[in-house]
Amino acid sequence: MPERTALVTGANRGIGAEIVRQLRDKGLRVLAASREPRDGFVSLDVTSAGDVAALARRLGDEGGLDVLVNNAGVSLEGFGADVARRTLDVNLYGAMRTTDALLPVMHVGGRIVMISSGMGELSGVRGAVRERFADPGLDRAGLVDLVESFVRDVAAGTHAARGWPSNAYSVSKIALNALVRVLARELAADPRRILVNAENPGWVRTRMGGSSAPRSVQDGARTAVWLATLPGDGPTGGFFRDERAIPW
Ligand code: NAP
Repeated sequence: MPERTALVTGANRGIGAEIVRQLRDKGLRVLAASREPRDGFVSLDVTSAGDVAALARRLGDEGGLDVLVNNAGVSLEGFGADVARRTLDVNLYGAMRTTDALLPVMHVGGRIVMISSGMGELSGVRGAVRERFADPGLDRAGLVDLVESFVRDVAAGTHAARGWPSNAYSVSKIALNALVRVLARELAADPRRILVNAENPGWVRTRMGGSSAPRSVQDGARTAVWLATLPGDGPTGGFFRDERAIPW
């Protein structure tokens, strides 16, 4: 079997670094990406269209990609329209931008994994907002429209009345889970049979999770690696924790 190539975003520390280690243990060639230039890493700030395009060109020249793990994420201090915008730009649009750019160079049997969160459960939103996220017919334009309305509602001070939480991280991960469903539908007719799924890693001891978190990076990375190496008849469009499907 030819060597498979994987790319992991935000791989210089935390769960991403551990996903790289576990994928390499499984024999994959893994490109570890970091937003700051570092020896041994591919430079990739997922908010930079230029970085993403350069990476797509490089991977195209080098023969393509089998596995993409969108792990890069931020949990910013405070709450307001600016925090909402910056959080979405990494956690949702960063994953969307990277996936869209790298999909054309993905091989048959490709796997896309999003690192989501328990904060990405649908119970974080209420009323009409929740209905729109849960709508099985939600498409990409509808998702972007919905998420942009969150930023506007936060700026206008109306977000709570409309069913949004005062938590940009949670909205970004709910939207990331919605993106998984949208992508799975978009890819349903693609002859390459690419599977796309999200992981909830649990609360993990990293810079983001802090030192009191109960789970190790090994625990947090395992399901992402499992999703990255699913067999051809594996699931798509799902949300997983500890290698089991969980309700969104
Ligand atoms: P972490 O230690 O804070 O690592 C976050 C990684 O994302 C770092 O490598 C960081 O790079 C990178 N990153 C941030 N912004 C970026 C950008 N614009 N472009 C590229 N890379 C960027 O946190 P972690 O706990 O390992 O988090 C990894 C993923 O797991 C995140 O998506 C997070 O939301 C998710 N998660 C974590 C927990 C938890 O309890 N730890 C729970 C649920 C979900 P720099 O070093 O340059 O900042």
